[in-house]
Amino acid sequence: MVEHSDDLLVFADEVEATPSPSLLPWRILIVDDEPDVHAATQLALKGLFIEDRPLSFVSAHSATEALALLQSDSDFAVALVDVVMESDDAGLNLVRTIRDTLHNHSIRLILRTGQPGYAPEIDTIRAYDINDYKTKSELTRVRLFTSITIAIRSYSQIKQLEAGRNGLEQILAAARELGKPTGMKKFAAGIVTQLCALLKVAEECLICAALNEHDDEPTILAAAGRFAEWMGLPLNAIPEARVRNQLHAVLHAQHHALDDGVCVYFPGTEQQALAAFVDLPRPLTAIEQRLLEVFCSNIAVAFENLQLYGAIEQLAYQDALVGLPNRNGFIAEIERQTRSCSLNQQAVALVDLDNFSYINSVLDDAFGDAMLQAVAQRLRAQFQAETFIARVGGDVFGLLGSAADVTPERLTAAFAEPFALHQNEPLRISATSGLILLEQHPSSAVEVIKNAGVALKQAKHFQRGHTLLFATELADAARDRMQLLSRLRTAFSSERLHLHFQPFIRLHDGAVVGAECLLRWKTDEGQFIPPDQFIPLAEQSGMMVALGDWVIRTALRWRAALVGQVDEAFRIAINVSHVQFSEPSFVSTLLAHIQQHGLQGHHVEIELTESVAVDNLHELTHKLTVLRDHGVAIAMDDFGTGYSSLSILRSLPIDRLKIDRSFVSGDDADLAPFGIAQTILALANHLQLHTIAEGIETDEQRNSLMRAGCQEGQGYFFTKPMDEAHFHEWLMTHQ
Ligand code: C2E
Ligand code: MG
Ligand code: MG
Repeated sequence: MVEHSDDLLVFADEVEATPSPSLLPWRILIVDDEPDVHAATQLALKGLFIEDRPLSFVSAHSATEALALLQSDSDFAVALVDVVMESDDAGLNLVRTIRDTLHNHSIRLILRTGQPGYAPEIDTIRAYDINDYKTKSELTRVRLFTSITIAIRSYSQIKQLEAGRNGLEQILAAARELGKPTGMKKFAAGIVTQLCALLKVAEECLICAALNEHDDEPTILAAAGRFAEWMGLPLNAIPEARVRNQLHAVLHAQHHALDDGVCVYFPGTEQQALAAFVDLPRPLTAIEQRLLEVFCSNIAVAFENLQLYGAIEQLAYQDALVGLPNRNGFIAEIERQTRSCSLNQQAVALVDLDNFSYINSVLDDAFGDAMLQAVAQRLRAQFQAETFIARVGGDVFGLLGSAADVTPERLTAAFAEPFALHQNEPLRISATSGLILLEQHPSSAVEVIKNAGVALKQAKHFQRGHTLLFATELADAARDRMQLLSRLRTAFSSERLHLHFQPFIRLHDGAVVGAECLLRWKTDEGQFIPPDQFIPLAEQSGMMVALGDWVIRTALRWRAALVGQVDEAFRIAINVSHVQFSEPSFVSTLLAHIQQHGLQGHHVEIELTESVAVDNLHELTHKLTVLRDHGVAIAMDDFGTGYSSLSILRSLPIDRLKIDRSFVSGDDADLAPFGIAQTILALANHLQLHTIAEGIETDEQRNSLMRAGCQEGQGYFFTKPMDEAHFHEWLMTHQ
C-alpha cells in the first residue's frame, strides 16, 4: 500500500508557493479501454501542479482491472472513468462498486464517454457523488485541467474533514481513557499512547517529564520505544541533548515547541506540569497542529482532575494534623500487603496514649495537637522506614511492620524519653499498646485491627503503659463480654436487676446517716454478677444511661418510702457513671425525679468518680453548681485511685471525699495505704470537705480513721450491702 499522504495534502495548503519536492503527487487513476486516451490524458495534464503538488497517473484498461487496483490501493485523488468498456455500463457499475462496496467516498470521479447517447441518468450522477460527466470531445486540455483541479480541491477538503473527525474521535477516546482516576505514572503512560496514536506514529517516541515543588529536577514518568530505558531518570540525566533541551525549554516557557519534533506542554496545578516529546520525523500538518491543541487542552483538564483526585485521596487517606495516613490508609495498606502475601512476618500494633483526653481537657486543644504531632514524629523516628505508621483514631496510632521491628520493647522505648513540646516543660507521655502477630492470626484488615484493639483494650484495663500481645483467648474474652452484654440487656428489660443498700455510719456516735444504693444482677441461675463486671459493659454499650435512670428512680422511690421511718437528714447515695453524668439532660432529669418523689435535694447524694473530670471543666462545674444549689450533695468516690489534680479538686464544687477501700482495708501490717488515707483526710480538712471511708472491715480500721479525722464510714464491719427487706429489718434494730 502506498504511504499515507492525507496529512501532507492538507499541509500543502499552508506552505510556500514554490512546489516542495517532498510533497507527494496527487494520484490520478485513468480507467479507459482505449489505449490512446491514456496517453492523451497524461499529455494534456503533463507538468501541471495543483495546489503546489504534481500529478501522477496510474492506468487501468478495464473496469475489472480498475476494481482490482482500487481494492488494494485506495489512495487516489481522482478517477477518470470511461462509461462504456467491457459492457455498456461497465463504468457506471464500477462507480457504484467504488462507493457502495469499497466504501471509498473520498475519491473524486469524473465520467467520460465517447458516445453521448450512453449518458447516465441524472439520478446516477447524484447517487454516486460524481464530480463531472463529459463527452471525450468536450474535454479539451483546459477543460480537463479545470475539472481535475476542482475535483482535487474537493478531495483535499474531504480528506481534511476526515482527518479532523478521526482526530477528534481519537481525542475523545483519549480523554475518556485519561480521565479515569489513575496514578500519575499510568496517566503519563496513557499520554504516550494517545499522543502517538493521534500523530499516527509508532509508540516509541515519547517521554514525559513532571516538575513539582518538592524536587526541582523534572523526572521521566513514561517512556516508550527507544526512550524506554530512560524511564525514571532525572531529566538532566538523559543522554540526548536535543530531547533534554527541548523538554527543559518547554517546561520553562510553559508553551509548546513544534519546530523540532513535537514537544507539548500540559499545565497542571501550580506545583506540577507535564511535557511530552515525540520525535516526529516530519513537520506537523495544519490539521494535526489544531488537533494537538485540542488534545492538549483536553489532557490539561484530565491532568487537573487527576491532581484533584490526588488531593481528595489525600484527604480520604491522610491525617492532616500529624501528616500520617489515617485509619482508611492503615486498612488499605494492610489489605495491600495481604494481597501481595507479604504479611507473614509482620506485626500490627495499636498504640493508645494514656490519659490523652484528660490532658486535652485540662490544657488546651493546641497542646493536645502538639502532643499528637510529637508522638507521630517520635514513632516515625523510632521505627524502621518500612514500617507503616498511621493515626487511626483520636489518640491511637497504628503500626504495621516486621515483627522484628514492631516489638513491645521498641514500643516501650518510643515513650521512654520525655517529649519536648514548644516552650513547655519536657512532658512524659505514657502509652498502652495492643500487638498482634499476623503469622499467628491471619485475617482480614478489619479483623486484624479489631483483634489488636481487643489486646489494646485489655491492656488498658490491666496493663496500662505496657504492650499486650493478642491471643485467641483475648478474642474469646471479648466475645464472652459481648454475650454478657446481651444477657444484661435481657436482664434489664425483664427486671432482673435490683438494688442493695449499705448504710453510712457516723463514726463518733454510730448513727446511721444514710445509705449507698448498689446495683445487683442475679442471673436466672441464681448467680450474682458483680457490678464491676457489668457496669463497664453497660457504659461501653450506651446502655448505662437507661440503666442509671432506672437506678435513680428506684432509689428515690425507696427513699420516699422511708419518710417518717428515718431521720429527715437521711441521705441516699447514688453512684453515677461518667457517661450518665455527661448526658446534657442529666441534671434536669435528676431534679425532676426528686421533685416527683416528693423529696428534696438534701435527701440525695451522687457519687462520681474522678473520671468525670475528663470532661469540659467549665460545664462540669456548672452542672455541679446547679445540683448543689438544689441541695444535692456531691461525693467524690474511690478518691485517691484516679488522676484528679489538687487544682481541679479545689475548683470543683464538691461536698465529700470518699476514701477508696484500698486505702482502708489493706493489710493491717502495711501502713502505706493507711498513710494515704491520712493524707487524704488532711487534705479534706484543709479544703473543708466532708469525709467518708469505705471498706471498713475491722474495729481497728474504724478507730484509726476516726482518730485521723474521718467523719463517716461504710463497710462489712458495720454490715454488708443488703436487699430492701433485710436493710429495713437492720435499720429498725440499729437506729
Ligand atoms: P463503689 O461505689 O466504690 O461501691 C463500694 C463497693 O465496695 C461496693 O461494691 C460494696 O459492696 C463494696 N464494699 C462495701 N464495704 C466493703 C468492705 O468492707 N470490704 C470490701 N472488700 N468491699 C466493701 P459493689 O457493690 O460490688 O460495687 C462495685 C462498684 O460498682 C461500686 O463501687 C460502683 O463503682 C459500681 N456500682 C455499683 N452500683 C452502681 C450503680 O448503680 N451505678 C453505677 N454507675 N455504678 C455502680
Ligand atoms: Mg460508690
Ligand atoms: Mg467507692
